[in-house]
Amino acid sequence: MSLRNKHTASPVNIFTVMTNLARQENAYNLSQGLPDYPIASELSELLREAVTEGFNQYAPMQGLVPLRENISCTLNDRYNTGFCSPDTVTITPGATYGIYTAFAAIIEKGDEVIYLEPAFDCYLPAIEINGGVPVSVTLESHNNFAIDWEKIQNAISAKTKAVLINTPHNPTGYVWSQNDWDQLAAIIDGRDIYVVSDEVYDSIVFDGQRHIPGFLQPLFNDKIISIYSFGKAFHITGWKVGYCVASKAITEAFRSIHQYLTFSVNTPAQYALAKYLELYDAGEAGRTLQVKRNLLIDGLKPSPLRPLATSAGTYFQLYDYSAISDLNDVEFAQWLTTEHKVATIPLSAFYKTLQKDRIVRFCFAKKDEVIETATSILRHIR
Ligand code: GLN
Repeated sequence: MSLRNKHTASPVNIFTVMTNLARQENAYNLSQGLPDYPIASELSELLREAVTEGFNQYAPMQGLVPLRENISCTLNDRYNTGFCSPDTVTITPGATYGIYTAFAAIIEKGDEVIYLEPAFDCYLPAIEINGGVPVSVTLESHNNFAIDWEKIQNAISAKTKAVLINTPHNPTGYVWSQNDWDQLAAIIDGRDIYVVSDEVYDSIVFDGQRHIPGFLQPLFNDKIISIYSFGKAFHITGWKVGYCVASKAITEAFRSIHQYLTFSVNTPAQYALAKYLELYDAGEAGRTLQVKRNLLIDGLKPSPLRPLATSAGTYFQLYDYSAISDLNDVEFAQWLTTEHKVATIPLSAFYKTLQKDRIVRFCFAKKDEVIETATSILRHIR
């Protein structure tokens, strides 16, 4: 008997590798995108309330009604639309699952899916395991990862079934403008191509920028599935609760698979999140993270590390380390963790192949004192 590997991604993902190394080396972990600070006390209280009040059995397959209602109201208010309703929102066990299930619903064997590199590491396996053929469009660091619309246009073929996009973008921190959405719309207009839109950092945007969700684009209304995560918005990555928003027809296809993959998502967390949506401060995540981003950038100004474009959203900022080392980015990330006790993620983890760039990603969703100590270490590396 033999087991065929159903994807071509790394057998052990980089976030596991670097967080394990950080633990082993007792290093400051600026690698994996997980906050190390406490969550809102109201949210922990609500979770406790859910369990003690008896919300401990299966939730409905598509998610608790009050949670789907409150998500719809929040999104409709925030974006001044009427698109969202409980029938267009499905609660998922995290966004990675949402992306996987979206592909399970959309693609058939041999269908091509266009995605942009650098790309979050779950995209490629999610496409391949579901029988799709990933078609990468590579964005260049020397060009500040500007979206190359001509390359995207050229990547379209008769077999293209979907385009996968990510805004705010991990790891570059780029936030899509309306012009970006218009460019994509112009390319896929009139074709049977779906858009899977990873928007897990929707509430973490800086410097007055606005996130523009995919489902707002009129041309995409019946072609797009937008994927979200409470993990990022409320600093609760371990709760593994997210949701997706799509037209009723796509939602139906999504749910027909979801009900057999996991059936439903943990009930106490859904109860707590439904109530928390009625009292949370919508600007909190963006404000908190912007201060932390600035702390990282200011702390590293006197260092030989050079920031790429300033992150406009997400938990992340890219840095060029070529003034410090000739090591490739994977070796450098390991060396930095073992020798200097600061863990990062090499940019190559976001590509199918090892990159020549000397770039690593820092996560600034960390306690201020962790950022301060890590940057003071990094300032002294030569
Ligand atoms: N999204 C987070 C990151 O980019 C963590 C993802 C993960 O651990 N799978 O670091």
